[in-house]
Amino acid sequence: MLSTMQDVPLTVTRILAHGSLVHGRSTVTTWTGDGAPQRRTFREIGDRAVQLAHALRDTLGVGRGDRVATLMWNNAEHLEAYLAIPSMGAVLHTLNLRLPADQLTFIVNHAADRVILVNGSLLPLLAPLLPQLDPVEDVVVVGPGDLSLLDTGAADGTARRPRVHAYEDLLAGRPTHYDWPELDEREAAAMCYTSGTTGDPKGVVYSHRSVYLHSLQVTTAESMGLTSHDTSLPVVPMFHVNAWGIPHAAFMAGINLLMPDRFLQAAPLAEMIESERPTHAAAVPTIWQGLLAELVAKPRDVTSLQQVTIGGSACPPSLMKAFDEQLGVRLCHAWGMTETSPLGTIAQPPAGVTPEEEWAYRITQGRFPASVEARLIGPDGSVMPWDGASAGELEVRGPWIAAAYYGGAGEEPLRPEDKFSPDGWLRTGDVGVISEDGYLTLTDRAKDVIKSGGEWISSVDLENHLMAHPDIAEAAVVAVPDERWGERPLATVVLREGATTDYAALRDFLEARVAHWQVPERWAVVATVPKTSVGKFDKKVIRRDYADGHIE
Ligand code: ADP
Repeated sequence: MLSTMQDVPLTVTRILAHGSLVHGRSTVTTWTGDGAPQRRTFREIGDRAVQLAHALRDTLGVGRGDRVATLMWNNAEHLEAYLAIPSMGAVLHTLNLRLPADQLTFIVNHAADRVILVNGSLLPLLAPLLPQLDPVEDVVVVGPGDLSLLDTGAADGTARRPRVHAYEDLLAGRPTHYDWPELDEREAAAMCYTSGTTGDPKGVVYSHRSVYLHSLQVTTAESMGLTSHDTSLPVVPMFHVNAWGIPHAAFMAGINLLMPDRFLQAAPLAEMIESERPTHAAAVPTIWQGLLAELVAKPRDVTSLQQVTIGGSACPPSLMKAFDEQLGVRLCHAWGMTETSPLGTIAQPPAGVTPEEEWAYRITQGRFPASVEARLIGPDGSVMPWDGASAGELEVRGPWIAAAYYGGAGEEPLRPEDKFSPDGWLRTGDVGVISEDGYLTLTDRAKDVIKSGGEWISSVDLENHLMAHPDIAEAAVVAVPDERWGERPLATVVLREGATTDYAALRDFLEARVAHWQVPERWAVVATVPKTSVGKFDKKVIRRDYADGHIE
């Protein structure tokens, strides 16, 4: 028997309409670095999103299903694009501005982006790539920038040159009403490529339905719990898995936004937190490490922050403790992937626990929301119990989890065996345990686990201990080949200012905390730990540097 309920598609169009109407007074503040932040209400953002949709359709000829890319920082205009592009039936494709040129070129061509919206400050990055970006017909420049950069190669008339538009000119005078198409909620709303640590980057395509449901989840108290009483500072870039869903969720729930634009260094972040007083912020651990060091050197009032979402890589417990004790700010640990929209787990502790128990829950990756089903697959392929001890590879499924990767225009979706199980679950490549009450603790990425003499050593565990040592600012542990044991850990550490190296003392420190056979024999002090395009430890580079003899 079918229900008697209305079958209303869950679309971004509805999020846009709701936010501009019901939460019209909520605001988006974009940091400009000149002491005069730009401020817009949701009503204004909504109107401008409608104008953008008109411009894209009427002047640029963007149609249903066309890909419109953004190469932009976190700012109000990027939010306008987030709302306009999916609502008109086109596909928002956020480009990671930190990717190497060859990967960016691959991604734009693979997605067949027709239009690129680019911040003027990023023209030096885009201009040299343009001659190789065959599908791009229009470039829309947002904010001030040197347009002459786009003339490269066109002087002799042979090079193909996209049309260039200025964003504000394009919007000016357009209507603020649009007859939105009735979309199927399963249509593509947005896409995002993984950073391609192995092989070519792979495209994940989000549906209207997945964005809508994920946005609802972001606003629940079990997740980030944000409302129109909050101001959220998404430091996590809007090109990194949709800034973890915060922009769309903001329009759904009226969450005020503080957008950092290109001012992502610790000093301006500290300044904007003190002056704009956000109640929430979100970023990867390396950002919060940097901010902590900045605040120790130059104290500022960051007490407006009631909760900070931290994820993208494991949050060292020592960092969480330092935020608790030194800043009075609560870090909340979350896990996710590009393939999971990204909210997979979030570590809100359960009710009725002691402070010690609460701490133990907070340093896990968190528990699964109702829409994310999880299972652990052990080394023999069997499903492991949720007992907090049996480890396996995490597999997940749910309405905002990818079922495949984008195959390219007219091509079938890709379902590589190492990423999708035969029965359709996403293989995350993350290894860990799940407690009886559904809290996930990750011990490693499958490819980072150190296999020493038949036993597994968790690189994350060693790193967490090392980063709690007073002399160590950062630590990354990788597997290196070993004749006797197959693999052994190599610990690379960044020392705090003024600290000296004493490997024997560091080894003793670890001996007291982990099994003695896990303690690394190989150590190296490095100036910095190499980072990926989204600020995670880049272990691939460390392994390569070691193999090439750059680390001894
Ligand atoms: P990339 O593969 O480019 O790093 P993602 O942002 O999709 O892109 O990365 C997802 C991966 O990041 C996860 O599979 C996991 O290994 C890691 N990760 C994310 N959040 C956490 C976390 N809280 N703790 C440990 N690892 C995490």
